[in-house]
Amino acid sequence: MRDFRSSVLSCVEHERLEFELLELRTRGQDLTRLRGLTREGQAEWDRRERVALSRLVDDDLEHECGR
Ligand SMILES: [Zn+2]
Repeated sequence: MRDFRSSVLSCVEHERLEFELLELRTRGQDLTRLRGLTREGQAEWDRRERVALSRLVDDDLEHECGR
Protein backbone atom coordinates (compact mmCIF):
# COMPACT_ATOMS: atom_id res chain seq x y z
CA MET A 1 0.00 0.00 0.00
CA ARG A 2 2.01 2.93 -1.25
CA ASP A 3 1.00 6.49 -0.93
CA PHE A 4 1.81 8.84 -3.76
CA ARG A 5 2.81 11.43 -1.25
CA SER A 6 5.35 9.07 0.24
CA SER A 7 7.98 11.80 0.24
CA VAL A 8 5.98 13.43 3.01
CA LEU A 9 5.76 10.30 5.07
CA SER A 10 8.75 8.69 6.62
CA CYS A 11 8.93 4.96 6.29
CA VAL A 12 8.31 2.57 9.14
CA GLU A 13 11.83 1.25 9.12
CA HIS A 14 13.22 4.74 9.39
CA GLU A 15 11.00 5.51 12.34
CA ARG A 16 12.02 2.30 14.02
CA LEU A 17 15.72 3.02 13.54
CA GLU A 18 15.30 6.55 14.76
CA PHE A 19 13.53 5.32 17.86
CA GLU A 20 16.22 2.72 18.44
CA LEU A 21 18.96 5.33 18.25
CA LEU A 22 17.12 7.66 20.59
CA GLU A 23 16.59 4.85 23.06
CA LEU A 24 20.23 3.84 22.93
CA ARG A 25 21.30 7.40 23.63
CA THR A 26 18.87 7.80 26.49
CA ARG A 27 19.88 4.53 28.10
CA GLY A 28 23.54 5.29 27.67
CA GLN A 29 23.09 8.65 29.33
CA ASP A 30 21.11 7.12 32.17
CA LEU A 31 23.77 4.51 32.77
CA THR A 32 26.46 7.13 32.83
CA ARG A 33 24.55 9.28 35.26
CA LEU A 34 23.38 6.56 37.61
CA ARG A 35 26.38 4.34 38.03
CA GLY A 36 29.08 5.74 35.91
CA LEU A 37 30.27 3.56 33.11
CA THR A 38 33.70 2.11 32.92
CA ARG A 39 35.79 3.27 30.00
CA GLU A 40 35.08 -0.07 28.40
CA GLY A 41 31.36 0.25 28.95
CA GLN A 42 31.37 3.73 27.55
CA ALA A 43 33.17 2.56 24.43
CA GLU A 44 30.63 -0.22 24.00
CA TRP A 45 27.77 2.27 24.13
CA ASP A 46 29.52 4.56 21.69
CA ARG A 47 29.97 1.63 19.35
CA ARG A 48 26.30 0.65 19.55
CA GLU A 49 25.26 4.22 18.92
CA ARG A 50 27.46 4.45 15.84
CA VAL A 51 26.00 1.20 14.47
CA ALA A 52 22.46 2.47 14.99
CA LEU A 53 23.33 5.79 13.39
CA SER A 54 24.93 4.18 10.35
CA ARG A 55 21.84 2.00 9.87
CA LEU A 56 19.75 5.12 9.89
CA VAL A 57 21.98 6.79 7.31
CA ASP A 58 21.91 3.66 5.15
CA ASP A 59 18.12 3.70 5.23
CA ASP A 60 18.14 7.34 4.16
CA LEU A 61 20.41 6.59 1.26
CA GLU A 62 18.32 3.64 0.21
CA HIS A 63 15.02 5.43 -0.18
CA GLU A 64 15.61 9.01 0.82
CA CYS A 65 12.98 8.75 3.51
CA GLY A 66 14.73 10.80 6.18
CA ARG A 67 13.95 14.23 4.84
ZN1 LIG B 1 13.38 4.29 4.99
